[in-house]
Amino acid sequence: VCELLLSDKEYVGFATLPNQVHRKSVKKGFDFTLMVAGESGLGKSTLVNSLFLTDLYKDRKLLNAEERITQTVEITKHTVDIEEKGVKLKLTIVDTPGFGDAVNNTECWKSVADYIDQQFEQYFRDESGLNRKNIQDNRVHCCLYFISPFGHGLRPLDVEFMKALHEKVNIVPVLAKADTLTPTEVKRKKIKIREEIEQYGIKIYQFPDCDSDEDEDFKQQDQELKDCIPFAVIGSNTVVEAKGKRVRGRLYPWGIVEVENPAHCDFVKLRNMLVRTHMQDLKDVTRETHYENYRAHCIQSMTRMVVKERNRNKLTRESGTDFPIPMVPGATDTETEKLIREKDEEVRHSPLLYNQNKYMKQN
Ligand code: GDP
Repeated sequence: VCELLLSDKEYVGFATLPNQVHRKSVKKGFDFTLMVAGESGLGKSTLVNSLFLTDLYKDRKLLNAEERITQTVEITKHTVDIEEKGVKLKLTIVDTPGFGDAVNNTECWKSVADYIDQQFEQYFRDESGLNRKNIQDNRVHCCLYFISPFGHGLRPLDVEFMKALHEKVNIVPVLAKADTLTPTEVKRKKIKIREEIEQYGIKIYQFPDCDSDEDEDFKQQDQELKDCIPFAVIGSNTVVEAKGKRVRGRLYPWGIVEVENPAHCDFVKLRNMLVRTHMQDLKDVTRETHYENYRAHCIQSMTRMVVKERNRNKLTRESGTDFPIPMVPGATDTETEKLIREKDEEVRHSPLLYNQNKYMKQN
């Protein structure tokens, strides 16, 4: 009957649903939070400025060597509102100055991990609160991790950092200051870094697989993107003149390095990936995998606390004192049980939670 009705009228109107969603999200605007991490001096701020064509670091204070000896990692946040063809994007850059700067850098990734967890915690609180309408989402969607071009592949600190964070955030590794390397060196370094990433079991952000019905061009572009990891990047805050055109680049006595020239580096590929093709996927993975993981742990420990409390109450009741302690009012008891039942139900319905629960029970 339904089919008949549809073919009768031909057009009901739900085909406009994508337009409705489009209008709504454009009106609301978009947000994206990008973190940059890696040793200082690798060109993080320069690259961010080049990526978004803004000066995000106007009032940065650089520390001298002595000040950096005991430097702790501080986290700073810069937000800019950018607009393009009527689409608004609130871009937040989270920087980690001081990372790897001190003499002793053991566990210097910890404050970065804590920061990411804090954003998850805040979101979890807001989401469980009464007013869920205007939640400010500060979760970190992507972390560009800068690898030095001067080492032989990854350094221990790089491995430690990525391993500590790979389950909390989408890590996209970049090979910094690629203009200091020859094309052959870039190629070799990329292969070495990819091998090491595999060898150490580091889980960097995985580009989603192409749909099988995509055209060949698209598939090839997608493969090129995957082979590009780590993106070899060059940043510059200056505009120079090359072949009669004004371009963002670096002027050397022997020539000009152009930031946006694909023959010189992967800057454009990285920018396209971040902004044009994968921004939404980075946000989806953050929400569906990283945040979900965090949330699962939270609920698990909350449930365990409730059960422990309940057992403690029971034990006190049964401890056979001369003066029997009055029963905990029935309401509270059933309330606790209800909460556990609800959480259990939730765990059972989420495959991720279910598997984790099973794993925990086994251990
Ligand atoms: P940050 O401490 O990681 O934020 O590094 P900065 O962006 O402040 O850059 C440190 C120094 O490296 C500055 O003198 C930059 O001009 C220079 N620099 C930045 N990007 C590049 C690059 O791609 N290639 C080269 N050769 N130098 C760069």
